[in-house]
Amino acid sequence: MSRYYYIAGNWKMHKTREQAAELAQSLVTALKDGKHEYLIAPSFTCLETVSAVVQDTNIRLGAQNCAPEEEGAHTGEVSVLQLKDLGVQTIILGHSERRHIYKEDDALINKKVKLALKHGFEVILCIGELLEEREAGKVEEVCERQTVKGLEGVSADALSNVVIAYEPVWAIGTGKTATPQDAEAVHAFVRKVIGRLYGEDAAKKIIIQYGGSVKAENAAQLMAMENIDGALVGGASLKTDTFVPIAKFS
Ligand code: PEP
Repeated sequence: MSRYYYIAGNWKMHKTREQAAELAQSLVTALKDGKHEYLIAPSFTCLETVSAVVQDTNIRLGAQNCAPEEEGAHTGEVSVLQLKDLGVQTIILGHSERRHIYKEDDALINKKVKLALKHGFEVILCIGELLEEREAGKVEEVCERQTVKGLEGVSADALSNVVIAYEPVWAIGTGKTATPQDAEAVHAFVRKVIGRLYGEDAAKKIIIQYGGSVKAENAAQLMAMENIDGALVGGASLKTDTFVPIAKFS
């Protein structure tokens, strides 16, 4: 399958079940004739509720994280088996809030990536540099390391279930967006890294989303870039009015 636009909403730690059901229902209605691929990722507590709403629609159900083990004595963690049971199709891993607030390192993220892929999930692997890393000229070094280590031991076959989200940390939730040209340069670089690891064909096929203060006003310019295949949206995914114009960009 060739590349398509893939717009995902990360609801982070927002919404009660009632609010989540209401937003999901409203998105199902608004996006039923949408031309792109869609995903919403509610909190664990809302997954069952939202699963029932998006079942048999064009919106995939995502989780925002998973445990690195299938089951066992891991208080407070949620397993891939439990996510599968709820109808989750996709797991977002390595989000910058997991990396920087909860100190998840590349090795832990890689363990989760492999476990999720083994259980048939699609994985959205988030990568991206901190502001000080950008200012120190380390954008490529950081993105290459996070991509290579995040995918260590992932087969070429399994890679077809991986999406990469480039999210410069300084652009997340700050209102600052990378310019389309800056984002494009990193996306092209990451595609090259995938080419080196998995070959040209895999590089051409892999979906690379951009994330970081995407809104209706900048979505179309970002998506117009050759190597930007969609968006991972935080703040603007929390309301129909702000998410739908991004999801229906043309
Ligand atoms: C995110 O959390 O992945 C994100 C990109 O957030 P925001 O759109 O709010 O910057």
